[in-house]
Amino acid sequence: MRSAVERAEVGSSIVVCPAKVAGVELARARIIVRGIVQGVGFRPFIYRLANDHELKGWVLNSTEGVVIEVEGSPNRLQEFIADITLKAPPLAVIEKVGTSFLPPVGFQSFIIQASQEQEDKFVLISPDICLCPDCLRELFDPLNRRYRYPFINCTNCGPRFTIIKDIPYDRPKTTMAVFQMCPSCEEEYHNPSDRRFHAQPNACPTCGPRVWLVNGRIASDSFAEGDEAIRMVRYLLSRGAIAAVKGLGGFHLACDATNDASVSLLRERKCRVNKCFAIMSLDCQAVESYCHVSDAERQLLESPQRPIVLLRRKADSPISALVAPNNSYLGVMLPYTPLHYLLLERRRDETETLALVMTSGNMSEEPIAIGNDEALERLRTLADVFLLHDRDIHVRCDDSVTRVFEGKEAIIRRSRGYAPFPVRLSFEMKQILACGAELKNTFCLTKENYAFLSQHIGDMENLETLSSFESGLEHFKRLFRVSPEVIAYDLHPEYLATKYAARLRREGAKVLGTEVQFVPVQHHHAHIASCMAENGVQEPVIGVAFDGTGYGEDGQIWGGEFLVGDFQHFERRVHLKYVMLPGGEAAIRKPYRMAISYLYNLPAALTSGLTLFSRIDPMELEIVRRQIEGRINSPLTSSCGRLFDAVSSLLGICDIITYEGQAAIELEMLADESIEDGYHWPLPRGKFPIAINQEPILGDIIHDLKAGVPIAVISAKFHNAVAEMVSGVCCLIRERDGLSKVALSGGVFQNIYLLKRTLSHLRRRGFEPYIHHQVPCNDGGIALGQAVVANVKVTSPKLRRRSVHVLSGAG
Ligand SMILES: [Zn+2]
Ligand SMILES: [Zn+2]
Repeated sequence: MRSAVERAEVGSSIVVCPAKVAGVELARARIIVRGIVQGVGFRPFIYRLANDHELKGWVLNSTEGVVIEVEGSPNRLQEFIADITLKAPPLAVIEKVGTSFLPPVGFQSFIIQASQEQEDKFVLISPDICLCPDCLRELFDPLNRRYRYPFINCTNCGPRFTIIKDIPYDRPKTTMAVFQMCPSCEEEYHNPSDRRFHAQPNACPTCGPRVWLVNGRIASDSFAEGDEAIRMVRYLLSRGAIAAVKGLGGFHLACDATNDASVSLLRERKCRVNKCFAIMSLDCQAVESYCHVSDAERQLLESPQRPIVLLRRKADSPISALVAPNNSYLGVMLPYTPLHYLLLERRRDETETLALVMTSGNMSEEPIAIGNDEALERLRTLADVFLLHDRDIHVRCDDSVTRVFEGKEAIIRRSRGYAPFPVRLSFEMKQILACGAELKNTFCLTKENYAFLSQHIGDMENLETLSSFESGLEHFKRLFRVSPEVIAYDLHPEYLATKYAARLRREGAKVLGTEVQFVPVQHHHAHIASCMAENGVQEPVIGVAFDGTGYGEDGQIWGGEFLVGDFQHFERRVHLKYVMLPGGEAAIRKPYRMAISYLYNLPAALTSGLTLFSRIDPMELEIVRRQIEGRINSPLTSSCGRLFDAVSSLLGICDIITYEGQAAIELEMLADESIEDGYHWPLPRGKFPIAINQEPILGDIIHDLKAGVPIAVISAKFHNAVAEMVSGVCCLIRERDGLSKVALSGGVFQNIYLLKRTLSHLRRRGFEPYIHHQVPCNDGGIALGQAVVANVKVTSPKLRRRSVHVLSGAG
């Protein structure tokens, strides 16, 4: 986890050049502080610090960072500079403190000056931060003027990224601009010793945003306001209603997570059959009543980012089984806005709930709703009531999803609380836009040694998501002053993100200037590069990229790949044998089609009598057979995700999926943790590239299935076989290439059972494995890999000719 203040290097041996002014020895320093230093109470901190050290001068926000000029006794000046990093406010992240010394000018006081802007400079912007302990105390203090006020915040907490329209971060450039502060708020805002000094979203019940309740189904008029509205929502939720609740980065759909009927109704209305819902509880104490929480998990739950944390559920949990069907984990978060605290507070009455479902306010895979009118329209059939407010959300930002693996955070969806904080790279980057992948899209902009990964954009399968991508991109470009010189994109010609790149190229020089270069990056190369980049690895590695779908260099669908290479270049050493994907997309939605495809080449004596065949409509079975025989609409794939799908269906666990990865997830959930051995997977030797045959494994599985071996044991033996196979193949590659660093990436490695065992095999055999922590291993992390690959390709003159393609007008 990121510490609040990253210690930056501060010159310990600063040469101060004092001069005598009116007989007193004085020195003046000009200091530029870079990092997250705006919107976190940094200027008031500097103001107080300067006064403590009896220094005169000024401080201001600029597009470059916080700029300070101070003058006073040389010793006090030294102490002041050291204290900037030592005593920085809790939310500040100091990246760099630059100091230069100047002749004294005789400042008379210390003041906070108006912000300055410079076009090409940028600052880091704070993500949205959960309510701080001080504001929480005030929220429930009957004597405080913000008692039960749902928008209480201060310089240490509250909305940031989601309300910022431009930099520098000042109230007129946020969605708070429309609220005129009352005299009391104004006084706090201008008082340097106040916790709300220059807190841009500062507000109170007199002057700030309000909440109200609307029955969106019948009328859009408010029928309750303020605290009354919140009490009424609590009551309705306790009676089984579904409420749309406007949050920080978008709407949630909320219902009582312990009420089967409500959860089931929400699933029905949202057309979400099986995919897990996230839930929210008041505190860790409540969470521990239904989930196991380790110290590291507690820390993550309570962190200022307040992500959804995947936790192992307890057996006798009061949470409805429908919240996460066929899953032994629950996605849990703690409240992060004052409104959430008011919805969940313990009142010891019938409206108290242990946990609320808090799922994103959208229909299936559309972007999350953010505007009041938009929500009333789009969520009309989903919610019974709408808890609205009038603080506009400028930037859509879904909740982040994360987990603890081997004691460290391993993020699954990097969004609210994390974005737009950059991933810091160990090398300088050109200004690059990487467009990302199709599913779980995020884009990435780079500048200096920062990679600004966007918040979760979503599955780019509809125009709404594409337009969310485009507006998000414009916003990031503006905030971080990036004008891309290079555009990186996936090879897949049908990805919307790739088509976006193609359109940029067609519109060409008009929009971008003439110097822009376009670099296609193979999907699995991008996965591996992403893992290398976040781990600071630049030398060649063995890259194991296991996922569902990625466009290969040979035009086939890859996804079970062992690559060797670095950022510049890769070679495919080993891959799973190609099998047919009968019906294309249909085979992804219906894992039983994959099972049939795999079984097709096995002896009939082995496959006859499998229950799989009795579960499938004979007509459909015939169609699939014909598709395979005639190679009709059946592309080839080496996907590892599809192998997991096929096994899941073969074992009768999941024949048809309703969300991405379902068959594999349910297969993992059933795997018996106590089983150590696995099926023997023979590895062919010979000249690279080698294709690994999956048939022996499937044969063994069928034998066990027919012998009545429990599914949990078969699943475990399958997982163990894959883990063993990965390390076996890595040994083969090491013999030839002499590499011992292994980067694991791709959505298949979200499978904890598999990841744990793969790592242990690799370590035992002397490999140095790298996995993802800060960036998702799934397609949400692709953009970072695209950016670093493109950066190297355009800067290496030798490779440039060969690998920098011109987009051939795809789409
Ligand atoms: Zn606060
Ligand atoms: Zn006020």
